[in-house]
Amino acid sequence: MSLGLYLHVPFCTSICNYCNFNRGLFDQEVKGRYVDALAEEIRVAGDGSPADTIFFGGGTPSLLDPPEVARLIARCRSGFDVPLDAEVTLEANPETLTLERLTGFREAGVTRLSVGVQSLQDGELHRLGRLHSAAKAREALAAARRAGFGNVSLDLMMWLPKQTVADWMTSVDEAAALGPDHLSLYLLELYPNAPLRDEMARRQWSLAPDDDAAEMYLMALERLDRAGYRQYEISNVARPGCEARHNLKYWSDGEWLGFGCGAHSTRRGVRWKNRSATEEYIAAVRGGGPLRTEERHLTAEERLEEALFTGLRLTAGVDRTAFALRYGVDPWERYGEALEPFVDQGLLVHGEGHVRLTREGMLLSHEIMVVFIGRAVR
Ligand code: SF4
Repeated sequence: MSLGLYLHVPFCTSICNYCNFNRGLFDQEVKGRYVDALAEEIRVAGDGSPADTIFFGGGTPSLLDPPEVARLIARCRSGFDVPLDAEVTLEANPETLTLERLTGFREAGVTRLSVGVQSLQDGELHRLGRLHSAAKAREALAAARRAGFGNVSLDLMMWLPKQTVADWMTSVDEAAALGPDHLSLYLLELYPNAPLRDEMARRQWSLAPDDDAAEMYLMALERLDRAGYRQYEISNVARPGCEARHNLKYWSDGEWLGFGCGAHSTRRGVRWKNRSATEEYIAAVRGGGPLRTEERHLTAEERLEEALFTGLRLTAGVDRTAFALRYGVDPWERYGEALEPFVDQGLLVHGEGHVRLTREGMLLSHEIMVVFIGRAVR
């Protein structure tokens, strides 16, 4: 099984008022030292194993300069066995993209661009504290095509402050009209101390009722079905053949190595996490202390549960035969009794070959997946 390589880039031009990712404000000098550390961490880890995806995530990886991206890709290629047709994704924010930079990223070896559009309505973007406008997002998409990107993904966020179902569907319609190859649809999730919470209280911005959030999800997917996209995961749709190969590793029991501050890795049943703070990470790579902050061997039960949690995120669901071969247990034989009520409610489907959630079941996936917790071993 080929690895996925994840490279974390923790820099952003400004910090969005809802963001809980591992990121900080951009600093040119820190960036230079950070890229050196990333290159060194990849060099040390390189063991010649096959790796068919590289993913620059963040933060805002498009704040790197194209030669830095080229250097890091080259480092991945020299340390691992990366095929010529590997998927190389760069997450990007619209305000960082010009035709010149996009052409540079393309020439550096990036094959797939994932653009954080979030909304195509200026009022919504402003309320989220995003730096770009809807016009800039459209411009960036057009420039990406001109630069030669044949695989472009857009992120959209739903259930935003003051957003109605009609507002959301306008963004979805406009996003589909732009013709990306892949779309990710996320629900805004506000962590407890998110500055956006205070702002919403101060300005009396409210969220649509829960029922509207469900309607937003289902209506968007139906609209995207009609536009020729195929849902393949709870939050992701793609034109056939344009599914995110890297992210599929997370949902289909794959293995990956994460490089950079706060990056997670999972390999051979072991999971670990790098130091989260940027300077501590750089110092650790230079020999100033341990790089890993958490490391643990997953138990057989944890691996089995996780394969079910993540596999059920996929529209294809969990392949019962493959699962039984790998974990020695047929998921329906083990959990069927507890899952039967969800089948009766139309939330889950099971057959000879698979167990999978229906679209309505995906809306309630958390409630359904609770069934697996602590039941792996009887
Ligand atoms: S651009 Fe993305 S990573 Fe950066 S602050 Fe905004 S949401 Fe967070």
